[in-house]
Amino acid sequence: MGGMSVQPEHVLVVGAGLAGLRTTEQLRAAGHQGRISLVGAERHAPYDRPPLSKQLLAGEWEPERIVLRDLDALDELGVRTYLGTEAVALRHQGSPEHHGGASDRGRCEVELSDGATLHGDVVVVATGVVARRLPDQPTHVHTLRTLDDALALRAVLDRIGSLVIVGGGFIGAEVAGAARARGIAVTVLEALDVPAERALGASLGALVARLMSRRASTCGRARGSPGSPPTVSPSPTARR
Ligand SMILES: Cc1cc2nc3c(=O)[nH]c(=O)nc-3n(C[C@H](O)[C@H](O)[C@H](O)COP(=O)(O)OP(=O)(O)OC[C@H]3O[C@@H](n4cnc5c(N)ncnc54)[C@H](O)[C@@H]3O)c2cc1C
Repeated sequence: MGGMSVQPEHVLVVGAGLAGLRTTEQLRAAGHQGRISLVGAERHAPYDRPPLSKQLLAGEWEPERIVLRDLDALDELGVRTYLGTEAVALRHQGSPEHHGGASDRGRCEVELSDGATLHGDVVVVATGVVARRLPDQPTHVHTLRTLDDALALRAVLDRIGSLVIVGGGFIGAEVAGAARARGIAVTVLEALDVPAERALGASLGALVARLMSRRASTCGRARGSPGSPPTVSPSPTARR
């Protein structure tokens, strides 16, 4: 939001994931001298998500290893951080009649969950995605998207004998692998005909299903259309 023809003084980046972090780094690399603020809902410094379902879940890596840039390094970059704080409202304070420059285009106001308000000449929204939840999902069911999610799931894997995974895409398959490595009985439910069909297509997906079954995961079909959250009703084949 806002114009870039006149250098903005304060760039406010909402979302301290990979996209938010790289935005701040690239702004500095491109010579931006003004203030940069980074707002992140999670309390952690920006970290790399792919290892969450791989090395971190497997217990091979600890959280320190996946940090992309710690707080000191962000400080060195001249980035002020607001972590553990969610942006809850975005308002434009501009006057649409004026078109003379950045200041005339107005500023943006971002309200934070702790009641504070930040003002930016430019606001970058880099809030990523969230995992879809099942309708009426019970609180003890795990979701895997954040570092805290991964640590909670890892702790549970140490004390369970069986696991049902809803979603047979890459992340579901990786969780299945980590659980099987611990000897846990795994059932994967997938709404499409075969796992990872959207990414790999039907024939490679069928191969994934065979590989999963060979590694002693049960792969069943969940009811629901691919575009919408599946219902939690396992197909009869998954109830073996
Ligand atoms: C378990 C797992 C494994 C993955 N493995 C791979 C892989 O092997 N290869 C691959 O290419 N990709 C992988 N991905 C996907 C990859 O991690 C994403 O593409 C990447 O995280 C996208 O980065 P992002 O910054 O756009 O969004 P995100 O990583 O989602 O970051 C957005 C951030 O914004 C914060 N936020 C959201 N709303 C607000 C708000 N209102 N106020 C403040 N902050 C907010 C969120 O808390 C989050 O920290 C994986 C993802 C997961 C979850």
